[in-house]
Amino acid sequence: MIISTLFIIFISLLFIPLTYYTLRLLFSQKDYHNYIKDNLFESENMWYWKWKEDDVDMLHSKCSKCDTILHYDENKINNMVFYFCPKCNSQEMKMKGCTYSYSQFLLKREIKRKYFEGKYTKKL
Ligand SMILES: [Zn+2]
Repeated sequence: MIISTLFIIFISLLFIPLTYYTLRLLFSQKDYHNYIKDNLFESENMWYWKWKEDDVDMLHSKCSKCDTILHYDENKINNMVFYFCPKCNSQEMKMKGCTYSYSQFLLKREIKRKYFEGKYTKKL
């Protein structure tokens, strides 16, 4: 009788860490991975992205009229990036003071800043 009680306690103690690590693995999906769109820098259009590990990937914006992914053109003399819709041929937005690669860097940094500071709304 004593042996069986000790055995049950031993087995229970064995399963506590196992259960803990299993649950931790199951629920360890990072919260910010649901953060996949936002109106960054109060831009006219919404920005969308995916998470690749802890990095922002496939950052893009869509046309407000037809939902097509926007293309970009940059004016390196005036340091401006224009985002336009190839289908509607309308300019959707522009970013001043940067090239395309720098604008992507700024947007990704803003996304990471928002999730580090918890200043984003979860979108499922
Ligand atoms: Zn369009």
